[in-house]
Amino acid sequence: MRDELISRRRVLVGGALVGGAALSGAGFVGGVAFGRAVPAVPERRAPRELREPVSAERAWAALSAGNRRWMAGRARHPHQDPSRRRYVATRQHPYAVVLSCIDSRVPPEVVFDVGVGDLLVVRTAAHTLDPLVLGAVEYGPEELGVPLVVVLGHQRCGAVTAAAHAIRDRVTLPGDLQRIVEALRGVYTPDIERMIAAHTRDTVARLRPLLPHVVGARYDLDSGGVTRLV
Ligand SMILES: [Zn+2]
Repeated sequence: MRDELISRRRVLVGGALVGGAALSGAGFVGGVAFGRAVPAVPERRAPRELREPVSAERAWAALSAGNRRWMAGRARHPHQDPSRRRYVATRQHPYAVVLSCIDSRVPPEVVFDVGVGDLLVVRTAAHTLDPLVLGAVEYGPEELGVPLVVVLGHQRCGAVTAAAHAIRDRVTLPGDLQRIVEALRGVYTPDIERMIAAHTRDTVARLRPLLPHVVGARYDLDSGGVTRLV
């Protein structure tokens, strides 16, 4: 199925059916957008490092550069103006999927200093996976040709902490919260920060057989920095 999707995308963006409505988000190869009917807002207006990267390595480099700006208090807030809104209104070519926690202190577009149309963001408590979430993560690489998936854990994750305490104390959390506990049971350790890192590595290990170019990283609430774990 995945091979079929990828090969279908390659055929489509290779020129056979470019311009169809079904391609509103798929016209992305080599940084070129194929939405012919849309008045182009030239990407050359963006600084070089903010153009959409076309490889996993360049995508990670762009996110790292944005995170350094955020850390240093020099965020540029790129791609957040009306011209960018018009540019992406009928197309999109995001360059990374970020699977991260719902925590209000870790908004991916902010901590990576990017804007509209740059990321596909999937957020669940402690970036826990289930089949629907997995489908959302797969959408980017398989349908839009997104080159990079980032699993982003973070310091002092409340969801991991709550799960660890529930496991330690043998408590059942109310309602569907217990599903989060069960999702984290396999990486339980009393050391919360170690458990957070282990969970991020475990999530990456689960995604890598399915998707190319998956990296795991940790966001530090104190410094604002993102460190690659795996
Ligand atoms: Zn969290």
